[in-house]
Amino acid sequence: MTMSEQSPAVNPFETAKRQIDIVADLLHLNGGMREVLKSPKRELTVNFPVRMDDGSFRVYTGYRVQYNMARGPTKGGIRYHPQVTLDEVRALAAWMTWKCAVVNIPYGGAKGGIICDPKHLSLAETERLTRRFASEIAPIIGPEIDIPAPDVYTDSQTMAWIMDTYSMQKGYSVPGVVTGKPISIGGSEGRGEATGRGCSYVIREAAHELGFKVKGASVAVQGFGNAGSVVANLLHDEQGAKIIAVSDSKGGIVNPDGFNPHAVEEHKKKTGSVVGFPGAKAVSNEEILELPCDVLVPAALENQLTKKNADRVRAKIVAEAANGPTLPEADTIFFQKGITVLPDILANAGGVTVSYFEWAQDIQGFFWTLDEVNQRLERVMTTSYADMRKKAKEHQIHNRTAAYVLAIQRVVDAIRIRGFYP
Ligand code: NAD
Repeated sequence: MTMSEQSPAVNPFETAKRQIDIVADLLHLNGGMREVLKSPKRELTVNFPVRMDDGSFRVYTGYRVQYNMARGPTKGGIRYHPQVTLDEVRALAAWMTWKCAVVNIPYGGAKGGIICDPKHLSLAETERLTRRFASEIAPIIGPEIDIPAPDVYTDSQTMAWIMDTYSMQKGYSVPGVVTGKPISIGGSEGRGEATGRGCSYVIREAAHELGFKVKGASVAVQGFGNAGSVVANLLHDEQGAKIIAVSDSKGGIVNPDGFNPHAVEEHKKKTGSVVGFPGAKAVSNEEILELPCDVLVPAALENQLTKKNADRVRAKIVAEAANGPTLPEADTIFFQKGITVLPDILANAGGVTVSYFEWAQDIQGFFWTLDEVNQRLERVMTTSYADMRKKAKEHQIHNRTAAYVLAIQRVVDAIRIRGFYP
């Protein structure tokens, strides 16, 4: 049985619902519970005007979907993209529900989006778009209801505008309404590197279980961006791994003897790419996936590992820092070949976990040190890894399905114990 977060050319919400059915079969869930799990609880569509810099107005459409709140307030990013659709937002909100449940943080899942082309908006236009959207969705967001965060083409500045708009309407500052904020207004230490750090912890756990040490192990990273560069740096600095290959959208580099990822980062800062790093050979973004290595970290785009190349993957561990890098057919091949997959909903859940820490700090008004954040993150990631492995062994299934079983079971337990109102 196979599952993946995204398949090409299909409605993502149909994919999300199929995944629920697969797990529902394993858990022997009845028809009513299946319907509950497949139904987004609350959806808001807003159409709103924004004043452009030239004085004209344009109407934009945005969505906020709160998928399931049985386990707590809902959590999920807001994306700005021309191809945003309601069904995509629904699917992403469902996946957030499972991601929060797999790491056992007390949240449901949500997602939001605005249909727009952020590359053609000025900073001032983006600010007005953001503030108006924030006030349109204000009735259904808040620290106790639904807490947005950054996603594709939104960032800490976007979150600062949403926090300010919401706070102006309330008449007092409400930092806990969003996460991924700048530290100066209630952001958390460690949030920036949390996704990569969480991923590095689960790689350590998996290597330990497979009986090899990360120290000296070879690592290839496709996508040397926020998530990928942090995984490379931390595996190198804290666990002594040998980083043998990295890539970005312009291409990749390889050196079987390994290189210092910080020096590659400096090179990328100067030249705009990892390509041309001294002492390394060029490698394409397709080839990097097939290099002999112990750990492969897809950290760029979805749909990278397919039935075409999965057979040629030679890593022991595939750690999905990216969302949806593996197609279902590739999952099956990896399972047959005995390659350990660390599925995205676990491997990149460090980000949402430290978002949860940010919110917890905001509502207490008491902030933690970087060490405290990292220790708590480590605990969450290692416990979740162990929980997932237990399910995998119990049901004789691969890690991705096990992560979904674990997550959906937790949501179902919360729904059942609460019962149905009235
Ligand atoms: P990013 O934009 O910082 O980095 C993406 C990297 O991928 C860049 O280096 C880019 O050059 C490279 N890239 C783009 N196209 C490529 C291609 N065709 N081949 C190889 N590399 C290519 O983004 P990010 O925040 O690091 O996100 C990367 C992935 O991780 C996404 O799938 C994202 O959803 C996932 N993720 C990120 C976070 C987070 O907190 N940053 C959290 C959860 C999941």
